[in-house]
Amino acid sequence: MKLTQSYAQLPDIFYAAVDPTPTDRPSAVMLNDELAALLGLDRQWLHSKTGLAVLAGQTTLAQPQPIAMAYGGHQFGHWAGVLGDGRALLLGEHEDAHGKRWDIQLKGAGPTPFSRTGDGRSSIGPVVREYLGSEAMAALGIPTTRALAAISTGEQVQRNAPEPGGILVRVAQSHVRIGTFEFIARQNDRDALEALLAYVQQRHCPTGGSEGIDALRWFESVIDATASLVAQWMQVGFIHGVMNTDNVSVVGETLDYGPFGMLDSFVPDQVYSSIDRAGRYAYNQQPAVAAWNLARLGECLVPLLAEQPDAGVEIATDALNRFPATFKHYFEHGITEKVGLDPRHRQHTDHAMALLDCMAANDADMTLTFRRLGQLDDQPNDADQDVRVLFDDPAAFDQWARDWRRCLEHTALDAPARQMAMNQRNPAFVLRNHLAQQAVDAAIEDLDFEPMRRIHALLSRPFDDQPEHAVWAGPPAPDERVLTTFCGT
Ligand code: AMP
Ligand code: MG
Repeated sequence: MKLTQSYAQLPDIFYAAVDPTPTDRPSAVMLNDELAALLGLDRQWLHSKTGLAVLAGQTTLAQPQPIAMAYGGHQFGHWAGVLGDGRALLLGEHEDAHGKRWDIQLKGAGPTPFSRTGDGRSSIGPVVREYLGSEAMAALGIPTTRALAAISTGEQVQRNAPEPGGILVRVAQSHVRIGTFEFIARQNDRDALEALLAYVQQRHCPTGGSEGIDALRWFESVIDATASLVAQWMQVGFIHGVMNTDNVSVVGETLDYGPFGMLDSFVPDQVYSSIDRAGRYAYNQQPAVAAWNLARLGECLVPLLAEQPDAGVEIATDALNRFPATFKHYFEHGITEKVGLDPRHRQHTDHAMALLDCMAANDADMTLTFRRLGQLDDQPNDADQDVRVLFDDPAAFDQWARDWRRCLEHTALDAPARQMAMNQRNPAFVLRNHLAQQAVDAAIEDLDFEPMRRIHALLSRPFDDQPEHAVWAGPPAPDERVLTTFCGT
């Protein structure tokens, strides 16, 4: 791995140079060969002693100076001041064969000037959770940071009780957050703000010409990417759990897997996070919160949008006002295709959305409902029963299905082609909370990574029926239910 560190060309205020703190006896728990291949990294290197030494933070020899990035953020609606990478270090950027640069970050590699009272470390539990969460998301085709490796540090970290330490090697197109812009905007240093915008624009939406920075065009691209991302989350039942502005990427990748969760039953106001008492980040609040976060980004950009502040605010507001329609378009389009209907017909979209209401009213399992719907024929038959039983009142589904079949008459695909298309959109398996919990518990309690490996393998092919794993397709047994998820560090 040959890294560069272009972020360090920004002014000093943007980061702190800091080396990882080596640990005693690191070992590799999971190495992501598939991602390595995608990035053009040498598999042998990844599995080598040198590879482990670099990814576990034992050596920075022959690498650029690692940095901790500075950022701020609004947490639960309140300005939280300077946060920054308190337990993460950007090793540098790896360039793939297409010239695209990927951030390689160590999460849990020791304290930084941003650690405040934290230890800069991570328990193996959150490492396992993020590894599984981000890789499951990637396999679903949803933009996300990735996990290149999970490392066991061989040391203990003190949490509620002592827990084994871990490092997640995270790969991202960018680790610039809305909170990065908020931090810089508060410095009242226009040059620094322009430098940040120029950096992200050059790296992530190159104009191909010498047009210079274009704050509005870039802001619109962030709005679009965020709307699309949140729509994709919600189509699979994902709840990020802590959409503070410091956890929101400006390139539309799912970032910072903390107390995230997946819906079993379709409960629109579902909250799992232990720290989200008011439900600010509930499943169905995510579009509104995304818009709120984007407004914070818009505020930062005002000075770059127009000479006069009033004009800048107006431009930002106009762009933001398009968010709800953009989100609605992406979400409804996706849900309509999930049920095999044609988003070009308003009636189809309305009927697809009505299924969500019907599921909510009948406590239907989200993943199973969509997946099994994809097995149904154009005419009712015995297979309908597999879907009906998911609804408290099966007759409510029957009624929906009658109109669904009427709509199907106005679609282009015959039943086998439709079923195949639906199976590509509706996963058979998602990282249900109880599955993540099984992997985390085994890792923390016994340093047993077999459940993690099994679940990872399962979720790397989420659209394939894997009959041998049928038990993992459905909701948890009553004693397996996970009602609360934690931030975990
Ligand atoms: P998060 O909850 O992961 O979004 O983190 C919020 C802030 O707390 C970020 O600035 C993190 O770097 C910091 N933080 C979280 N855990 C730790 C830790 N164990 N040591 C130091 N800083 C931490
Ligand atoms: Mg964070």
